[in-house]
Amino acid sequence: MSFLKQINPFESAMKQFDKAASLLNLSKSQIAMIKEPRRITEVNLPVRMSDGSIRIFKGFRVQHSIVRGPAKGGIRFHPDVTVDEVKALAFWMTYKCAVVGVPFGGGKGGVVCDPAELTPTELENLSRRYFAEMSDIFGPDQDIPAPDVNTNPQIMCWMFDTYSMHKKQFLPAVITGKPLELGGSEGRSEATAQGMVFCVEEATEQLGLDLKKCTVAIQGFGNAGSFAAKLLKDDGAQIVAISDVTGAYYNPDGLDVEAALNTCRTNKNWLLKGFENKAKCEKLTDPMKLLELNVDILIPAALENQITEENAPHVKAKIIAECANGPVTPEADDILEKNNIFIIPDILCNAGGVTVSYLEWVQNRMGYYWRKDRINEELEHIMKKAFDQVLETSLKNKVNMRIAAFLLAIDRVTRAAELRGLYA
Ligand code: NAD
Repeated sequence: MSFLKQINPFESAMKQFDKAASLLNLSKSQIAMIKEPRRITEVNLPVRMSDGSIRIFKGFRVQHSIVRGPAKGGIRFHPDVTVDEVKALAFWMTYKCAVVGVPFGGGKGGVVCDPAELTPTELENLSRRYFAEMSDIFGPDQDIPAPDVNTNPQIMCWMFDTYSMHKKQFLPAVITGKPLELGGSEGRSEATAQGMVFCVEEATEQLGLDLKKCTVAIQGFGNAGSFAAKLLKDDGAQIVAISDVTGAYYNPDGLDVEAALNTCRTNKNWLLKGFENKAKCEKLTDPMKLLELNVDILIPAALENQITEENAPHVKAKIIAECANGPVTPEADDILEKNNIFIIPDILCNAGGVTVSYLEWVQNRMGYYWRKDRINEELEHIMKKAFDQVLETSLKNKVNMRIAAFLLAIDRVTRAAELRGLYA
């Protein structure tokens, strides 16, 4: 754990950028315009607690880029969130939006807090205070947040309400990931996993694999991981291992995904605790060994920095589909490439979430709402087109899929920046 903590996500993100930018032969001024965040806002948020005391929480919002459109990216509530982590996540959002061609820049927010320790009223007060303090930088045409780790549709509603009350208008397009009752979109909950599945369908075809005969291991069983298990199972793949904070569960003959979902539904806080007693499977002594199982497809869907130079040599999967942001360190990337492992990089693989957020924003602005079939059709079109463009760039330039995704995205952001020019 201490080793993982030492890896600075922003430094990793900058290494990825430099690798791709050097291939594009960008000038120093072009790089200066698009590499570092445009604006970092830090606030101290006073919140009245249930015992009457006032506690100060630290909050951040990083707007990495507003070149291709308003900043877009979630808000994370976590005791360990740092400005460097938020900067890295905002950076990835810029290039994620550019890879799939949705007209947004990149942003991310964070509040240093442990939501599990807060009462519902304290959580609401903190969420509203954060949004009120930042209300000048947020807006449907400025910066549009969404949920991230430990924030959810209810929190999005409080934030949207705070903003609408300040502006004295009904403005649902200021935030995405809202529930259906308040302008949310059909298909948003499963969007990230569904987008990943569209990429995996393309990747297996490219590699000559039959998805119906593929085995899959998934690290993380939250929003992205649990929908990934369900959707891939529906596609005919065999899910042999899943994990969450309670441990890793493995059956080489295939797990009962429905039983896993039912275990989470009956446990508090959507956990797999006790799953080994409810279905045929073994609980791995070391949950990190899930990443080294002999499977066709490995899906990291939990945290960053999970595959490092230490465990990368032991990874046996043919495809790694990065549902999580930054799960593979740059050093591990080199090892996996040498071992011919096909990586679908995070900025492409998990872009289904922001893509359906974009569709939610479009629907909010029209005031007209589409059926789920339409959302899925749009998502499939956008994801498969992006996958094919990244693959083509990778083959043409003889680079891996991550560098190819960055080549494509950096080129799009640079061109937009140059077309806009510099307002002096
Ligand atoms: P979540 O909070 O719903 O789920 C996280 C899961 O990871 C939980 O099951 C948790 O128990 C598990 N986990 C945490 N630490 C773990 C560990 N050490 N080992 C194994 N499991 C562990 O979060 P989510 O929304 O599913 O997001 C997961 C990842 O996907 C994050 O990196 C997030 O940034 C990324 N992502 C999510 C979305 C989205 O729309 N949900 C979109 C893009 C990227």
